[in-house]
Amino acid sequence: MDSRDRFQQIRRILIYILILNWGVAAAKLIYGWMIRSASMKADGFHSFSDGSSNLIGLIGIWVASRPIDKNHPYGHKKYETLTSVAISALLFFVCFNVLREGIARFIDPVIPEVNLNAFLVMIVTMAVNIFVMVYENKKGKELKSDILVSDALHTRADILTSASVIITLMAIKFGYPMVDPIASLFIALFIGYAAVQILRESSRVLSDAAAIPIQEIERVVLAIKGVKECHRIRSRGRADDIHIDLHILVDREMDVHRAHHLSYAIENKIKRDFRGVTDVVVHMEPMEMEKNKKRF
Ligand SMILES: [Zn+2]
Ligand SMILES: [Zn+2]
Ligand SMILES: [Zn+2]
Repeated sequence: MDSRDRFQQIRRILIYILILNWGVAAAKLIYGWMIRSASMKADGFHSFSDGSSNLIGLIGIWVASRPIDKNHPYGHKKYETLTSVAISALLFFVCFNVLREGIARFIDPVIPEVNLNAFLVMIVTMAVNIFVMVYENKKGKELKSDILVSDALHTRADILTSASVIITLMAIKFGYPMVDPIASLFIALFIGYAAVQILRESSRVLSDAAAIPIQEIERVVLAIKGVKECHRIRSRGRADDIHIDLHILVDREMDVHRAHHLSYAIENKIKRDFRGVTDVVVHMEPMEMEKNKKRF
């Protein structure tokens, strides 16, 4: 299977899961609204935001497959990061609204009308989640796709959230309606946590934070024959698109032909030792005889 086939398969799976997630979200939102349950609606919003993160994955695959062009010599992968920021803003908004409704219900309690259908909706949507988790995990491992495997892990956590809503519905049935807003506040915190995680990772990428610790790169580069010293090591970028540049000192008598080979050796070694490195630029300087010479 070539990489285009693989991308197409991952894309198809993500589209299926997106549809399932939004279907599950619609069922919980509509039914939660009908029976006036804050926690069921909150869980619905949560599933909606999960669908949105499938959308990030889809956009990521779509833009990543676009080739480098004149206007984007570094490729198009940061569009995915940019989309993540937008999704995180959406999650903060959802989190805020769920919190607001939960708190309002403490001031002005609403008693949800739990019926058998509400339980059915929760059980069916939970079954869909379990199916999604198993399917995504199996396909993710087959296709070696991090997006699918990590999304499967996330879906596993969602099954617990849905289970907590079922318990909440039972508590309401047994005469404890205040469990409902409490559960919705917990779900709001889950959504807020996801929003913070996404924003943290995106801002790390957008602000060019170091992607690999300097000492680790230094250790690898200094082990290569011909490299006398190494400084000004910089790394940045997304986990799947890391750019590195560095300066090295070599024997001042080294000829250009050998120097060129050495720079290739460094590039290949770094790419082999660190996953996700797509670009290495090596700047060479002659080792000067006198000590304490200024380095540039
Ligand atoms: Zn989720
Ligand atoms: Zn060259
Ligand atoms: Zn230098």
